[in-house]
Formats: sequence, structure tokens, C-alpha cells
Amino acid sequence: MNLNSHILLALAFGLILFHNDIALAVLVGIGAAIPDLDREYVFTKRKIFAKYQLHRALFHNIFFALAVTYFNLYLGLGIFLHIALDLLTSPTDRGVELFFPLGRLVKNFELDYDGNIRQSKGMMWYLEDPVRIINKTADPGLKVVVKMPWIRIYGPFKNSRLVDWMIFYSSFIFIQLYELNNLITWWETFLYTVFVKYVFIDIGIVLFYATGELWRRRLQFRNLNNKMKYVIIGVMTFGLSLIIFQGLYLYSPMKPIINLNTSLLIIVSMLIGLSLAYIHVRIRFKKITL
Ligand SMILES: [Zn+2]
Repeated sequence: MNLNSHILLALAFGLILFHNDIALAVLVGIGAAIPDLDREYVFTKRKIFAKYQLHRALFHNIFFALAVTYFNLYLGLGIFLHIALDLLTSPTDRGVELFFPLGRLVKNFELDYDGNIRQSKGMMWYLEDPVRIINKTADPGLKVVVKMPWIRIYGPFKNSRLVDWMIFYSSFIFIQLYELNNLITWWETFLYTVFVKYVFIDIGIVLFYATGELWRRRLQFRNLNNKMKYVIIGVMTFGLSLIIFQGLYLYSPMKPIINLNTSLLIIVSMLIGLSLAYIHVRIRFKKITL
């Protein structure tokens, strides 16, 4: 989904959940802007970027979202909302690799996209990635160079189309209606929060995405000298350092909701459960499919 849809939906959620606390709602919005930082490939070649398939993986997985949630609850909520929206998007947009990097341990799949059963050993996903659709329709930087098993989760919607823009417009309208009673004061506080309170993070995000996208969409196809590329890299690195510089001040670790004993019990139960399930599925189906 488009970055503006992610941010506005997160802002609307933040206002509802945190009872109009604009500072907290803006933090949720900033969180929702973070995951797509994994898309800009000025730091590497497009071919290499496509090979490792880091977009919609590196910052779009539950482990990253949980880590950020521990760092700051509100930023984390924004990341979860971002992932939830991207889960609705099609193979063309590459869905979301929810279990990155763990999912990459699995190399095979049982059914190919035409429904043919493959004979392979070891741990398998049930379905392969819809490689033909991806390579026919996806952005060049997202096409898969090597055949991959099913490691992503897809939905029915396409980026920048009806549902994407509906989420953007609806969230905007909702916020205006929700704050209608003192809309002018709300906008003043909102603009202050964005442009003064979190000014470094916001400038950082704008610099990183603006130059990154300029490179991705236009500049890389022109015959530019290396100097220009280093200018872009420089601006993006500066943007990133602004985000980190102010981001560090947002560190407010969550108090654990469960104690150490309970966490240990959960881990032990999961390990025993996994072993039992392994034996069960092995005996019943003679092979291990996730
Ligand atoms: Zn995304």
C-alpha cells in the first residue's frame, strides 16, 4: 500500500485508541512509515536487491515488529498496522514475508502453482510462490531471480488502486469528522507535533524516501556519474541518521506482560508440541509439510 495510506490509517487508529492524544497518535503514524525503509536499493545493485528479496521482508516481519514494540509500544503498533495492510496486497506487490528470516530455512514446497505435487525431502511449505505472476507483473527490483518456495502471504488488492486510495481518503475524512468540535486547535497541535516535536525524525523520513524513490524510479536509468550516486547515498544516510538520532530518545521499554516462568513454560510447551506434531504428521502423511 502507499505510504500515505499507511500513515493516515495509523494516525486514525492512534487517535481512537489513545483518546485524542495527538503526540501518541503521531508516534503510531511514524511507526507506520518505518517498514518501507527496506525498499530503497541505492545502497546495492538492483539485481542483488532482487536476489535477496529484502523488500516486504526485512522490516515487514513479526520479529522486527515485536522488537520495535518492546522499544516503543506506539511505534510498534504502527509497524503492525503497516504489516496488516500490506498483507492484503497481491503477489505483484510481493505481499509480506511475515516470518523472515526464519521462513528462509524452508527451501522446498509440496504443490507448485499449477497444483502438481513435487517429491522433495525435508521440511516443505505447502505451496510455492506464484513465480509466473510475480515475474510477469512485479516491479523489476521485486522479480524473483531464483525459484522460491511459498514464503510470503498475499491478498487480493493492488497497490495504488481502489482499496489503497479508499483507505487514504477514508482515514483523512474520519480524522476531520472525529475532531470536528475543535478542528482548528487540533490541526495546530498536530502540525506542531509533526514539524516541531518530531522534526528530526520527520525530515529524516522525507529525505530518505524522497531521494530513495527518485533514484529507484528515475535516476538509476539515466547515465549518471558515480558522483551523483554518492550524493544520493549521502542524503539518504543523513536522513537515516536523523531518524536514529531522534528515534533513540523514544526508547521506553515495555514492562513484560508475562513473567520469566510463564515465558519458559510457553517455550517448553512449544518445543514438546512441535516434536509431537512432527511425529504425528510424519506417521500420518509420511512427509513434513508446514
Ligand atoms: Zn510496506
